Amino acid sequence: MLAEVAGVRVDTRHWINGQRVASSATFDSVSPIDGSVIAQVSRGGQTEADAAVAAAKAAFRGWADLGPEGRAPLLFRLADLVEENIEELAQLETRDNGSLLRSHRRGVMPRVAMNIRYFADYALNRLHHPVFETRGHENHVSWDPSGVTAIITPWNAPLMLATWRVGPALAAGDTVVLKPPEWAPLTASYFADLTAEAGLPEGVFNVVQGLGPEAGAPLTLNSDVARICFTGSVPTAKVIARNAAENLIPCSFELGGKSPTVILDDADLDLAVDLAVEQYDNAGQVCLAGTRLLVQEGIADAFAERFAARAAAIRQGDPRDEDTQIGPNIHLAHIERVQGFVDRAREAGATVVYGGDVNSEIGTHYFRPTLIRDASPGSEILTDEVFGPVLTMQTFTTDAEGLALANGTEYGLAACVVTGSRQRAEEFCRDLVAGTIWVNCFFVRDLGAPFGGSRKSGVGREGGVWSFDFYADVKNTVYAPDGWKV
Ligand code: NAD
Repeated sequence: MLAEVAGVRVDTRHWINGQRVASSATFDSVSPIDGSVIAQVSRGGQTEADAAVAAAKAAFRGWADLGPEGRAPLLFRLADLVEENIEELAQLETRDNGSLLRSHRRGVMPRVAMNIRYFADYALNRLHHPVFETRGHENHVSWDPSGVTAIITPWNAPLMLATWRVGPALAAGDTVVLKPPEWAPLTASYFADLTAEAGLPEGVFNVVQGLGPEAGAPLTLNSDVARICFTGSVPTAKVIARNAAENLIPCSFELGGKSPTVILDDADLDLAVDLAVEQYDNAGQVCLAGTRLLVQEGIADAFAERFAARAAAIRQGDPRDEDTQIGPNIHLAHIERVQGFVDRAREAGATVVYGGDVNSEIGTHYFRPTLIRDASPGSEILTDEVFGPVLTMQTFTTDAEGLALANGTEYGLAACVVTGSRQRAEEFCRDLVAGTIWVNCFFVRDLGAPFGGSRKSGVGREGGVWSFDFYADVKNTVYAPDGWKV
């Protein structure tokens, strides 16, 4: 089943044991740019999920036994191939999920290559195996490959988020079954061909396409799966956690957020406005987005005025145009959900300062950048993840009050703090609950830094050694000082 999308040919069948496998059923991949159907994709279920896990299980020993030295050259080759195919991957992803083409070309797809190369290099050169002594005995710590890892991913940055898990899992010596998102499935299929071209042995990397409950759930219930990595929403994570409990499979969860952008009254206002406007990136479909603007009284009016002027000038349109700043939202069902949040906020008395609906002059999928003020404390627009271009603004007087507002949701994924004082920043950040905090900056990411969410934003941390702690079976072997015959 070949599709040609934006001039790129992609085989949309499953990829199992180094073979293309079709299902009798298919689903449509729809482009949010214009709502058109761009590909038919195989719609897998229990049979395909089981076959993929069996293939990954059969390939596991050989892949694990290669060791970091044997795996790294293949993974470096895969990273090179991603780099050689950046234009194809960027075109495909933009058509499929509507994110900006220039971001895919310059940031996202290069990061895909980095996800693979960084962790292969880490396993080879930086994963040190500590040896320490206890009453004359030697402890030897090792990171052993653990088996088959199932990876289930969302649509907002499909290949980047998939390879952020696939890279370390393969580097750790695990074999992988990837279940991509049904709203943006295409780059995973294209990537499968690159894994074959790089020379990964059959069964080491597999893709099962399909809908979540049909193709994803069987992976989470399979007793031959050693690890589950899930990136997505909290409700789905709860289902997966229950399924995983059946076989006590360890899970790594990267989930939603309702992160604050806190602007203290000594902040550089230009910087504060720049950082606030960035929260609309990817049409608000960024888990880390600091969608709650919390602004200290004293600068609130000046900030609001400048911010509204900047937000009004945001260029929304076709994500393939070089000067577009915000593209479409992913799906009509998702837009309906975003609209519901805005409508209910308005009905509950909040003010929609600008935006608030779809810009139908551009198309059906383009929700306007929106700002909501005067929402009543505790209302859902201030506590629940919208995952669209919808920001709220609240004000506070003291730093303590700002901190309470910042920590006042069930989430704890990220936070952005803007202030002119290093000391105030340190005091504020000490009690801020978030996996990542950016001070006077946003979205600076290092693959060696721990990444994950507190509270309902996730379970576990990945990045650098934290990734290997999850994907590997960490083992301690204790040698007695005597008893040796040879
Ligand atoms: P989602 O939970 O609806 O779906 C995510 C994936 O899970 C999809 O592949 C889907 O097919 C699959 N799935 C659905 N039901 C399943 C089931 N019962 N069993 C197994 N798999 C199932 O999430 P989404 O709408 O695709 O993504 C948006 C969410 O992802 C937001 O909440 C966002 O914050 C979050 N997210 C988090 C991060 C992070 O790093 N923390 C990154 C990106 C997105």
